[in-house]
Amino acid sequence: MDEAAPIPEQPDNRAEQSLVWLTTHWAFWRPTPLRHLLAALVLALLVGGVTALVYLTGGIQYVYSHSMYLPIVLAALLFGWRGGLALALVGGVALGPFMPIDVDAGQMQSPLNWIYRALLFSLIGVALGLGVGYLKKQLHMARWLAFHEPLTGLPNRLQLEQGLLTFAGTDMGSPALILIQLRNIEMIGRNFGYQTMDEVIKAAYHRIKVQLPEGCSAYLFWSDQIAAILPDNLLQDDAELPERIAGSLRTPVTVSGLAMHLEVQMGIVRGGVIEQSPMGLLQHASAALETGLKEGRELSLFIPGAADAEREVLGLLGQLREAIREGQLQLHYQPKVELASGRVIGAEALVRWRHPQRGLIPPGLFLPAAEETSLIHPLTEWVIGQALSDQVRLRECGLDLIVAVNVSPRNLQSKGFERYLRGQLAMPSVRPEMIELEVTESAFMGNIEEAILLLERVRELGVKIAVDDFGTGHSSLAYLHRLPLDTIKIDQAFVRDLGSHDGSLAVVRAAVMICEALGYKSVAEGIETEAALLELRESGVQVGQGYYYSRPLPFDDFVAWVERDLTRSAI
Ligand code: C2E
Ligand code: MG
Ligand code: MG
Repeated sequence: MDEAAPIPEQPDNRAEQSLVWLTTHWAFWRPTPLRHLLAALVLALLVGGVTALVYLTGGIQYVYSHSMYLPIVLAALLFGWRGGLALALVGGVALGPFMPIDVDAGQMQSPLNWIYRALLFSLIGVALGLGVGYLKKQLHMARWLAFHEPLTGLPNRLQLEQGLLTFAGTDMGSPALILIQLRNIEMIGRNFGYQTMDEVIKAAYHRIKVQLPEGCSAYLFWSDQIAAILPDNLLQDDAELPERIAGSLRTPVTVSGLAMHLEVQMGIVRGGVIEQSPMGLLQHASAALETGLKEGRELSLFIPGAADAEREVLGLLGQLREAIREGQLQLHYQPKVELASGRVIGAEALVRWRHPQRGLIPPGLFLPAAEETSLIHPLTEWVIGQALSDQVRLRECGLDLIVAVNVSPRNLQSKGFERYLRGQLAMPSVRPEMIELEVTESAFMGNIEEAILLLERVRELGVKIAVDDFGTGHSSLAYLHRLPLDTIKIDQAFVRDLGSHDGSLAVVRAAVMICEALGYKSVAEGIETEAALLELRESGVQVGQGYYYSRPLPFDDFVAWVERDLTRSAI
């Protein structure tokens, strides 16, 4: 079996730079008929000049005949091996039968002498021409590979960036960019093979290209994204173009008899919207694409400023790990009140970030993004550790309250988290039955059987489990009764709308009925008014939480609030 060719190492910097220079400049000699004619003329002059030089300096016996290598090398460089051979033969004959060895003595050369020289010239001309031809081919290949994606042969991101840069230097106005993501292309590759996937990408590319105005190009930006550049005024005149591109991709692509549907997402950025570098356009188009994806729109136009919030969140995420280490996070507690008696029975721990420059940052700014990453693990571990020690301090103040912590679905899926929880709950100071984990409904999505097993394992540790934001997620009544739960927290959206929407009251009552039937505790969050409180109490909700009672408070303020409340109820 043939051994696979070794993959060459990445060239060092200088070599790489020369390669880039060569690949971009080697084509300085573009063979046009006029250039051919000019080159042939120069070569003829050189041959004539060398012949005259040899004759005038006294004949072939002197060293000047070697000057003939110069036109031979030039001919091989410009015209390849055929040119090298032709010039070698002409030069060989010019210094051949008619050129004396010694002009003054009138002594001629022997045939063997000039024939050997002519053959040597030919050998050099052909060898050099072949070598140059090979090198040109290699450079051509290197240049092609630098600017194309090798498997599909489509123009790649480097070409796209060059296209944007050169666009800026033309008189076509400012460029607009349309970024088209083939969202299910990876899935096609996984299921039908990566060759089929490449064929689908090529077909999609050609469909897009056909829709573009003449002279505009499309490029493969990522393996699943195709970018098209066009003058902004063209897009302004033809606002339907993006829709037409999307439409052209709606017809399934057929590869090897299989019809494949494409799921498409498009981000558009108009030129001249804001001052932007050509590369900035790419970022903006990606941001528009992402926004469309989040908002469930197939086509989305970049709006300046829209990406700033996302950049801000990413910036915060970058600092989060250090913030946890340096103790910048803190927990605020919001009381949970038994509606019938008005007694405080617990508290929800809600994280806040005291940022050294930006002050107090609410969780809404960084938590949803952190939940998308593994950063949620150290964060939740810190929250649990802090909440457990706060609970001990509460007990020392004579307050025996159930403390609830929010746990992200991602935490629950992690074995490491389970181990951490087990370790924390095994500590002697901890009473697991006084801990509640609040989990949103999305944690039960996907594999429900697995979710049930997981929750059962966690619940066996002795903690309580609550479904948070009930009614807003995707909970299916079909499995609700199978989940090992203790509490259902009716989302604040329903509580807020109690006075204005009859539907909300119906949902609250239905949730209470479910809780009663399944033996769960019902909690309503977001109670802001007395009217809402009365309505909820009337509907049979057992526990309430909201600004009506108290906003989430720092630990000491919370303790003071509960103690004040106790005094009030005692009076
Ligand atoms: P959540 O768990 O549903 O928490 C209730 C949110 O509603 C809290 O917002 C709370 O301040 C707010 N709230 C309470 N009562 C009222 C009210 O009467 N009116 C209004 N308008 N709002 C009220 P917060 O603290 O900003 O937290 C937002 C979300 O962030 C939480 O929703 C929870 O999903 C998440 N979160 C907070 N802390 C943590 C944490 O430590 N870990 C995890 N994984 N998530 C957390
Ligand atoms: Mg909660
Ligand atoms: Mg909630």
